[in-house]
Amino acid sequence: MSVHVVEHPLVHDALVTLRDARTQPEVFRRMAVRISLLLAAEATRDLPASPVTVQTPLAPAEGRRVSADVVVVPVLRAGLGMLDAILELIPGARVGHIGLQRNESTAVASQYYARFPDNLPSAYVVLVDPMLATGGSAVAALAVLKAAGASNIRIVCIVAAPDGVALVERLHPDVDIYTPVIDKSLNAQKYIVPGLGDFGDRLYGTV
Ligand code: URA
Repeated sequence: MSVHVVEHPLVHDALVTLRDARTQPEVFRRMAVRISLLLAAEATRDLPASPVTVQTPLAPAEGRRVSADVVVVPVLRAGLGMLDAILELIPGARVGHIGLQRNESTAVASQYYARFPDNLPSAYVVLVDPMLATGGSAVAALAVLKAAGASNIRIVCIVAAPDGVALVERLHPDVDIYTPVIDKSLNAQKYIVPGLGDFGDRLYGTV
């Protein structure tokens, strides 16, 4: 597995707004869309494409069209804040959903929902989970996806912690992680520090 730390200045500009405790849900949502677009572009650099020829007003031109069957899988609910941006980038993508509920005292994730499109074994799967904290939800989601037949999977997150990266690396060494940053640590409640707080709450104003 490799961790891809995305250094693009526009990614980090959006990230600092997401981190800022003064950022209200409206702007938070906008920045979540912006950063997700940029991260997804980076995470799909190896997207298979096929050669095509089109006619410009002047002459034939050779190009490439994405030929992969892309399946985007947001982890509910925070991952929904990244979904539309990725669909903007890959409009033909199909969407699966995984619902995981984090127990606030143990930080253990339990699944309450999973629904995927068919043909997962041949799909190019993009799992979106903005906060890779303990890695508990990510490895639970990866296990569910693999049990459904997915094998070509990458995770896109917005903030990662060393624990989450290490857990995914240990249990799913075949999965690449795309993140702008690996923060210092987790606090006693398993929130990422400095992180940005609860992504879902900040996205939906449910703090
Ligand atoms: N989930 C969040 O929303 N934030 C964290 O810091 C950790 C998990």
